[in-house]
Amino acid sequence: MIMEMKQRPAAFIDRDGTLIEEVNFLSRVNDLKLFDYTFEAIDRLKNRGYLILVVTNQSGIGRKIYDEAAMRSIHSELQHRLSDSIDGFYFCPHLPDEGCRCRKPNLGMIETACADFMIDMEKSWMIGDKKIDIETGFNAEIKTALVKTGYGAEHSKDLPRQPDIIAEDLLQAVNQLLAV
Ligand SMILES: [Mg+2]
Ligand SMILES: [Zn+2]
Repeated sequence: MIMEMKQRPAAFIDRDGTLIEEVNFLSRVNDLKLFDYTFEAIDRLKNRGYLILVVTNQSGIGRKIYDEAAMRSIHSELQHRLSDSIDGFYFCPHLPDEGCRCRKPNLGMIETACADFMIDMEKSWMIGDKKIDIETGFNAEIKTALVKTGYGAEHSKDLPRQPDIIAEDLLQAVNQLLAV
């Protein structure tokens, strides 16, 4: 049997402030709020063949504000509300000063995803609301989209260089990147 080795483009998507509303140290499923366009945005990417990979810094775990089980219950609820469209969740549980390889803007999570899937990085995007998300995309040498939800409006003023797209929100970013 010949294994299918076809590469697929990936949408590496930040969680808080991008896929869902920003809540400081979100730890309870009851506080999980998707934007009203999140489902549609993910559905459009999915229909165009993109892998949907969530990459999220969760230092609340390292800070012992919540534990990994609490984060996992949020991820399973998010997955449920998106009809199981997410292909992978990657998270960094460490503190900012721990010097780990996974915390964005480092590339550990993207490298792990690249080991898990056959990814066409030339066609892949990093989408997020923070400067560190955009820097992650720059470091990975992939295309970048900043959304103005979450911290995005503030962080759009303080970027090392321009991302490929600055959009009001995830759906507008997706519409623009699918038109490129
Ligand atoms: Mg964010
Ligand atoms: Zn880490």
